[in-house]
Amino acid sequence: MKIKIVSKPGTTAEVKTGNWRELTYPVIDHEKCIGCDLCAKICPEGICFPTGEKNSQGRVYYETDLDYCKGCSLCAEICPVKCIKMVEENK
Ligand code: SF4
Ligand code: SF4
Repeated sequence: MKIKIVSKPGTTAEVKTGNWRELTYPVIDHEKCIGCDLCAKICPEGICFPTGEKNSQGRVYYETDLDYCKGCSLCAEICPVKCIKMVEENK
């Protein structure tokens, strides 16, 4: 078993979560996303990113890299249009 020590905020992006995430993970409704970038700014893992794809409103929507997500819900809390829903694992 490999153990990594995290010494600075944001550097946990180097450490894959594997299967120990908190109980929920974020799912983004791309159609509602307004591309405000707040989720990217607040995510402690630095794993919310603009996809480069546009929704029907012509806005670039965001996605998260679940391989590194810790399920903290901060992105869902800050999203101004509430288009991030935290979903229970295995559902
Ligand atoms: S739940 Fe937390 S770690 Fe996962 S994408 Fe949102 S802010 Fe980042
Ligand atoms: S906070 Fe919500 S609206 Fe803003 S970019 Fe992220 S998902 Fe889109």
